[in-house]
Amino acid sequence: MTDKIAQFIQKFPNVEQNKPLAPFTTLQVGGPADLYYALTDINETEDLLNTAKELKIPYFILGGGSNTVFHENGFRGLIIHVKAKTITVEEDRIIADAGALLSLVLQTARKNGLIGMEKFMGLPGTVGGAVRGNAGAFGIETKDVFEKALIYNEEKGIHEETAEYFNFKYRSSTVKARKGQDIVLQVTYKLQKGDPAAVMKENATVIASRLKKQPAGKNTGSFFKNPRPFDSAEGPAIHAGKLLDEAGCKGLSVGEIQVSDQHANWIMNQGNATQTQVIELMKAMQSRVKEKFGIDLEPEVQFVGETGPLTFN
Ligand SMILES: Cc1cc2nc3c(=O)[nH]c(=O)nc-3n(C[C@H](O)[C@H](O)[C@H](O)COP(=O)(O)OP(=O)(O)OC[C@H]3O[C@@H](n4cnc5c(N)ncnc54)[C@H](O)[C@@H]3O)c2cc1C
Repeated sequence: MTDKIAQFIQKFPNVEQNKPLAPFTTLQVGGPADLYYALTDINETEDLLNTAKELKIPYFILGGGSNTVFHENGFRGLIIHVKAKTITVEEDRIIADAGALLSLVLQTARKNGLIGMEKFMGLPGTVGGAVRGNAGAFGIETKDVFEKALIYNEEKGIHEETAEYFNFKYRSSTVKARKGQDIVLQVTYKLQKGDPAAVMKENATVIASRLKKQPAGKNTGSFFKNPRPFDSAEGPAIHAGKLLDEAGCKGLSVGEIQVSDQHANWIMNQGNATQTQVIELMKAMQSRVKEKFGIDLEPEVQFVGETGPLTFN
């Protein structure tokens, strides 16, 4: 590995070594990455990935870190931190690089009186992370304002794809299903012209509602997906938080990770929690819900082991 790292550094002198990952995530869990590269220019993507693949260095794409839990020993490979963040407006469209924070896209929409994304107010993370997980809030999902995106994959290089390709579903997309093979580079949102004052008012309502419901501290937002996110022909929505609450999970803890007393689907890092503790707590929560309701809860967050993503479904 040392030899490969030396070769990588020779080609990309700006790459950093032994970079602590916890500070890049909202849960603040995780050790250092062997290699860390801040991708500020999307045109570097191809060369960067080809080099990592040629040298057989595992890589992981990181956005805002609000849905990611790294291993306490860190990552034995390359973290590509998507940092390209240019945002432009063309009539009723916003074009944002994948590393732009969603909050800044919302600010741009507000300033330009563009309507459609107000309910995302307070949703952390980047444009790329939101597309991958079809992030949503208060009945609106990314798919509702998404028009197209520039993505990179090995098959086609950097190219454009429209909504059809992404096959958006609740907290899921083709990008998620292809497990790191597609990298979102730039997204075009299609909005509507409206009244900036109305956008501002809706933003304020949403943020007030979040502040009332959301526990403050180091967390990942909702930890598990809702087993039935919306009312449907199969029956009314089933929320993970309610099941976890009724299964007595509030306050449950392993080491320094604890289920919030306020919201049973939020876990809080009370100090220096580890991924191992998070997984142990997750399993305890899952087994309580399985025992009481016969329902399998699936984590919404992405765990990353020492050499790559971990799956628990
Ligand atoms: C306080 C709080 C509140 C939250 N509220 C909500 C909410 O209301 N609704 C909701 O849906 N989520 C919510 N979340 C979860 C989280 O904010 C979203 O999932 C968010 O979209 C993740 O984006 P990110 O950039 O932080 O992703 P990261 O955590 O950086 O990455 C998550 C996954 O996306 C992949 N990824 C990141 N960028 C790219 C890219 N450019 N191309 C390809 N893959 C990429 C990563 O590899 C990883 O697998 C909340 C989280 C917190 C902490």
